[in-house]
Amino acid sequence: VLLEAVIQSSTNGIIVIDSDLSVVLCNRRLSAVLELPERWEHLQDAEKIHALAQCYQQPEAFYEEIEELVKNPVEQRLTTLETRQGRVLDCFISAYQVGEQKSGWLFSYQDVTEQKLAEDKLRHLAITDSLTRVFNRRHFFALAQTELDRARRYNRDLSVILFDIDHFKNVNDSFGHLVGDQVLETLASYCKSNLRSFDVIGRYGGEEFIILLPETSLKRAAQIAERLRKQALEVHIQTSRGTPAITISLGVAGIQPGQMATLDQLISTADQALYRAKAEGRDQVFALYVEEPAKSE
Ligand code: GH3
Ligand code: MG
Ligand code: MG
Repeated sequence: VLLEAVIQSSTNGIIVIDSDLSVVLCNRRLSAVLELPERWEHLQDAEKIHALAQCYQQPEAFYEEIEELVKNPVEQRLTTLETRQGRVLDCFISAYQVGEQKSGWLFSYQDVTEQKLAEDKLRHLAITDSLTRVFNRRHFFALAQTELDRARRYNRDLSVILFDIDHFKNVNDSFGHLVGDQVLETLASYCKSNLRSFDVIGRYGGEEFIILLPETSLKRAAQIAERLRKQALEVHIQTSRGTPAITISLGVAGIQPGQMATLDQLISTADQALYRAKAEGRDQVFALYVEEPAKSE
C-alpha cells in the first residue's frame, strides 16, 4: 500500500506489467500524459495493454517493444515513444522479479517534449541562416560533402550553382540596408520554390548563394540556373524611393559520372564560372565542367 502510494505520486509516469502482459498498475501521472480513456478503470487487466497501445502515435511500436521484451528479456532498456497527442516520452524499462514466480516489467516514463522542442529549435538555429532561412555555409558544406561522396561512389551526376546579386552595393546605397535584406529574403524563397526537395541551398556569403543539385548534369543545371536568373527579375520590392531592379549572375559547375573531383574543385570551378558570368556583362549564366586533373605519365 505504501509502495503503491509512492508510485502513484511519482512525477514520472509509471506502468507495471506482469509476465502475462496484464497491466498491474498505471499511475496518475501516466494516465494524465497518455489521456487514458474513461473506461480504463473498468477494463480487465489483460485488455488494458491494448488500450495503452492505442495511446501511442504508433501502437505497433509499443507492441514491438513488448514483444521484444518477451522474446529477449533484458534487465533494463531505454527507448523513446511518442503519444497520440504528440508528446515525446523517454521510457526506461526494467524487469522485476518477486520471489520465484512473479515477474514482469516496470516502465518509467519521463516527458521530454519541451526539452526535445528546445533541442530541435537549437539545432535549426545552428544550421540555418536566420535572414534567408536557407542552410548556413557550414551546414551546406557538410551536406554537400555527403552528396559528393555519394555521387562519386555510385557514378552519378552532380552539379552546383553559385550565384551573386549584381551591383548589390548599389541597392543598399540607394534603397537602404533593410531593403537589401528584403531582396535577399525574397530571392532565397523564390529559389527554394524553384528547386526540388533534395536540392541543397545555402548562403555562401553576404549576397551569394550556393545550390547543390544531386543527379543533375551540367546541361540540366545550366537550364535550372537560367530559370533562376529569370526568377530574380521578378523580385520587385516596392519602396518609397521606387523598386530596385534585381539581376543575378550565376556560375554552374558539374562533375561527370565517374569523375573523382573534390568539393573544393567543384566549388572553385563554379566560382570561376561565376566570375566569367560577371565579366561577360552580368545577368547571365556561365557553365563549366570541373577539369580532369592532368594525367601524370
Ligand atoms: P557585383 O555585381 O560585382 O557582385 O557587385 P556588388 O555590388 O554586388 O558586389 P560587392 O561585393 O562590391 O558588394 C556586395 C554587397 O553586398 C556589399 C554588402 O554591403 C552587401 N551585403 C552583404 N551581405 C548583406 C546583407 O546581409 N544584407 C544587405 N542588405 N546587404 C548585404
Ligand atoms: Mg559578392
Ligand atoms: Mg554582388
